[in-house]
Amino acid sequence: MARYVYNFGDGNKDLKDLLGGKGANLAEMTRMGLPVPPGFTITTLACREYLRTGSVPAGLFEEVEEHLREIQARMDKRLGDRGDPLLLSVRSGGKFSMPGMMETILDIGLTDTSVLGLAARSGDARFAWDSYRRLIQMFGRTVFDVPAEAFESELTGARAHAGVTSDAELGVAELQDLVRAYKKVFHAHAGRDFPQAPHEQLYLAITAVFSSWNAERAVLYRRQERIPQDLGTAVNVMAMVFGNRGADSGTGVAFTRDPATGRRGVYGDYLTNAQGEDVVAGIRNTVSLHELATIDPRSYRQLLSVMERLEQRYRDLCDIEFTIENGKLWMLQTRVGKRTPAAAFVIAGQLVDEGTITLDEALQRVTGEQLAQLMFPSFDPTALPTPLTTGVPASPGAAVGAIVLDSAAAAAASGPVILVRRETNPDDLAGMIAAQGILTSRGGKTSHAAVVARGMGKTCVCGAEELVIDTEAETVTVHGTVLHAGDIVSLDGTTGRVYPGAVPVHPSPVVRYFEGELSPANDPLLAAVQRLMTHADHTRRLGVHANADTATDAERARRFGATGIGLCRTEHMFLGDRRTLVERLILADDDTERDAALAALLPLQRADFIDLFTAMDGLPVTIRLIDPPLHEFLPALEDLTARVAGAEALGRDPGHDAVLLTAVRRMHEQNPMLGLRGVRLGLVIPGLFAMQVRAIAEAAARRVADGGDPRPEIMVPLVGAVQELETVRAEAEAVLAGIGGAPPIRIGTMIEVPRAALTAGEIAKSAQFFSFGTNDLTQMTWAFSRDDVEGAFFSRYLSLGIFTASPFETIDTTGVGELIQIAVARGRAARPDLTIGVCGEHGGDPASVRFFHRTGLDYVSCSPFRIPIARLEAGRAATADATTSDSR
Ligand code: ADP
Ligand code: MG
Ligand code: MG
Repeated sequence: MARYVYNFGDGNKDLKDLLGGKGANLAEMTRMGLPVPPGFTITTLACREYLRTGSVPAGLFEEVEEHLREIQARMDKRLGDRGDPLLLSVRSGGKFSMPGMMETILDIGLTDTSVLGLAARSGDARFAWDSYRRLIQMFGRTVFDVPAEAFESELTGARAHAGVTSDAELGVAELQDLVRAYKKVFHAHAGRDFPQAPHEQLYLAITAVFSSWNAERAVLYRRQERIPQDLGTAVNVMAMVFGNRGADSGTGVAFTRDPATGRRGVYGDYLTNAQGEDVVAGIRNTVSLHELATIDPRSYRQLLSVMERLEQRYRDLCDIEFTIENGKLWMLQTRVGKRTPAAAFVIAGQLVDEGTITLDEALQRVTGEQLAQLMFPSFDPTALPTPLTTGVPASPGAAVGAIVLDSAAAAAASGPVILVRRETNPDDLAGMIAAQGILTSRGGKTSHAAVVARGMGKTCVCGAEELVIDTEAETVTVHGTVLHAGDIVSLDGTTGRVYPGAVPVHPSPVVRYFEGELSPANDPLLAAVQRLMTHADHTRRLGVHANADTATDAERARRFGATGIGLCRTEHMFLGDRRTLVERLILADDDTERDAALAALLPLQRADFIDLFTAMDGLPVTIRLIDPPLHEFLPALEDLTARVAGAEALGRDPGHDAVLLTAVRRMHEQNPMLGLRGVRLGLVIPGLFAMQVRAIAEAAARRVADGGDPRPEIMVPLVGAVQELETVRAEAEAVLAGIGGAPPIRIGTMIEVPRAALTAGEIAKSAQFFSFGTNDLTQMTWAFSRDDVEGAFFSRYLSLGIFTASPFETIDTTGVGELIQIAVARGRAARPDLTIGVCGEHGGDPASVRFFHRTGLDYVSCSPFRIPIARLEAGRAATADATTSDSR
């Protein structure tokens, strides 16, 4: 017979798949001999069976009865006993905690008769009747979907009638009346009487917890948190203990360290004479856990020792729920506690100091995402006003600006603005780009606004449903406060809070530390960051380079720990006042004109490279030859057409504009992404690549002459066939041969076209290094262009589950990743000493970095601000075998 039920004494903390997090941890505490009320766990397997077939698996309730008998024996009470009833709680709990998403029912077993027994036995009629009314309420809501307000309005009525302000002041007679009223409410909505058979209550409750797995909010929550939908929940059934039995009883929650800062010492809240949920519900004011030392010193001391043992067992911050019944402490829950990113770093460092975990393990306790959060600017915590409202924290950061309600206004605004919309769509793109931050009243983490904002690295709060946006009146109303377009608001994309006015923004101390402006001495967070980064650098196998085009970026990248430039784009060197030179190049009618244009560009490029080699002295600098289509350097077709038409209308000669317009028309492409760009340009425009190669080599020679150590590498973009590379290479080598005094310069290629990945074996014969251009490779593999699709259908794809993350943020390991693996294998087979890196934005994405480590790349390259994240994740990837902690 399948075994669906485990006694708490039979499980342990590593059985989360089967017993859920709550069940596994209750089992662990029971095994440790901690005071846990007796109980058992119905496995997630039973739930999955139930969800699959629509009925409870055969034999389940028999097993439940068997285990129930054990509880009854241990508690010396029976379920449904008239004189001394056993009461039970039925608690949901899946593998991953889903706070508030699923159901728990307390006080199962109370009926019209057993409530009398409980009253007599406990000598506390008030307590018995209060428990009974709680049961009807929770059971009605959870099992029969009775609207919560139906009970709430009875409760409010009862308080008003008795002339009291809190539930705790209701007397026995009033609670008895309330029970009668609740039973009527129950009947009206459920179409039947409140069940008077305790076993039926239990079975119905178990089934309701199974079903709550598929409640709409639970499904949505899992989608957002990327928790698989098919895990199912376990159900924990355990004997009730009562914190609501008078002044020597109570309930509380506690943390073994401060989950906000990581500071050592216990933290928590305690509520006298109350049952579990009252603490969270904020019904009455709690007191700090430290006051328990005065209220009940014995239980307090016992609690401290329990917490210490839990920390030793879990080797991490634990949070716990406990109840004290008539001076006796009971443990009701524990788990590895959630914490802020700052606390994650601080605690990992402390646990190493305390000898609890190794540095390798400490690296597994923090993530690149957490480090990224610590690197965003934040609001000055001492200057926070009361928030106007809170939405879904969709894209982190701190943004301040004036409200604008439409995207055209945002795009046209001169100062910083916050774009406020019900929801966004592709037409809002220009406004989103212009805004400091985006605020919507609809949609969650996969809404259009959220997806696009994250892609742009822009602060976004979405789904702030309390906002009433009136675009006609140009107002935003929240709780009666009316804001007008132009009013300043502040958005915290990390917490989802929206503040009135301009909240002062703090630069991130972690960034200031990386910049060398703050010392880690005497700052626990910075000291922990330093320690873990040092260890990550020590253990990682992947190199971390930077995508940097200017000396300023290169210097920052170096401060942030880059050991090379993996991608220097040369196209910015064609912008600004140099555009006219590029125009001359494009418009050249013959070789002489073209050579003159190139000769004018040469010294400018050379000077740029000298600066870059100076900033990166002694480190490799991979320079990509020009990549974008040349018409990107000419004015836009629409602008030129308008200018020419305008001049003609006025009877003036459009002059140079007419020449440009002809060129732009000639060069117009249907799909520029798939057009004349990359290596194709170099093969079609004589002398262009040769000029760039010359600038690189002459700059290097100059640096050597000045005593420097330049290490340039030349990278050819968009190669799809080895012959392309060979042709460019021959031309480059001829140029290099004519320049004395430069160090040897390696020539390699980007792998960013699927054909290049597939023919990597051929290409490697001509390339000394590969660098994956994962942006293009993703676009070409999926056959969509980022600029066109991110706003158009990504949110739909994410909510349909076709993507679990945007493939432009996190590498698509199954598709694009397969091409990368093929290219690595074939490239290395042809040339064992081939250097392989990646220079797409994925190089700074935590999950992608781990994939690149597994795939055996030599380095990742990313934007300067992502470098610490890549270093950390590369270290984590290298030490991934160490014990992992699951605080999800
Ligand atoms: P959640 O997962 O939402 O925290 P829980 O299953 O932990 O839900 O239960 C909700 C509340 O009921 C908690 O405060 C818990 O401590 C309390 N509770 C659960 N079981 C018992 C019990 N057997 N005796 C007393 N209180 C309980
Ligand atoms: Mg709980
Ligand atoms: Mg590219």
